[in-house]
Amino acid sequence: TVDASIVAIRDDNQVAQVLVILYDLTEIHHVEKMQADFVANVSHELKTPVTAISGFAETLLGGAKDDPAALTQFLEIIQKEARRLTTLINDILTLQRNPATEERKTVNVAEIVQTTVNNLQKVADKKHVKIDVTMPTELLVTSSPGRITQIVRNLIDNAVFYNREHGVVKVVVQPETAGFRFSVADTGIGIPEADQQRVFERFYRVDKARSRNNGGTGLGLAITAEAVRALGGSISLHSELNVGTTFTVVVP
Ligand code: ADP
Repeated sequence: TVDASIVAIRDDNQVAQVLVILYDLTEIHHVEKMQADFVANVSHELKTPVTAISGFAETLLGGAKDDPAALTQFLEIIQKEARRLTTLINDILTLQRNPATEERKTVNVAEIVQTTVNNLQKVADKKHVKIDVTMPTELLVTSSPGRITQIVRNLIDNAVFYNREHGVVKVVVQPETAGFRFSVADTGIGIPEADQQRVFERFYRVDKARSRNNGGTGLGLAITAEAVRALGGSISLHSELNVGTTFTVVVP
């Protein structure tokens, strides 16, 4: 898209010069469309839990509260949907955070990975998924601990969630000139070729049927990709359906 403006500069009632300015609006329109899409997606995603919460509250007030079983069941739904709202809002705020304000300090990547694995151990145990970690005890980099945590947590969390029962998650951390390489391989359902590039888009889910019925927001990989970008790194994935997926992040 090109916008043109013609400015005639008059000098003694004569046209002395004609200036033609051409603007390329393609990029501006693209950014505007992405922002509009994002707002539309956010509104839609927020509406779903809000609708559920107000619907169940209304049913309770309409008389269902007198039935103890219904009371408990509906309150649990309201609580679950409120938690989902909190997750969504936190994810959206994370995505909008300005990378310029981020702290950079000496961090031990190995420690972040170990803490994350410990935090996810319970969920993995429930599914009998083994998390196997290969890394040095200390890997120091000057970076943003918050961003590294986002990358590590989202990728390992997905590797557990989209795995099969009794599956394996292999985490490898290695030093790389002044930075590190981090990879997470799972033995899960895999990602179809056609979706492989799109999974990094905000709110993109491969299909409803296999996505998390409540926890997922479709924002995890968008947050991960954004964190990798903020650190000047790169992320890639290799996946085979029903065999598994490997995500590799290199932060220089
Ligand atoms: P979600 O909150 O849905 O997990 P993500 O942004 O983390 O959102 O992931 C986007 C989609 O990519 C998921 O809905 C899922 O379909 C797919 N995906 C992500 N990680 C994996 C993985 N390790 N194995 C298979 N599919 C995955």
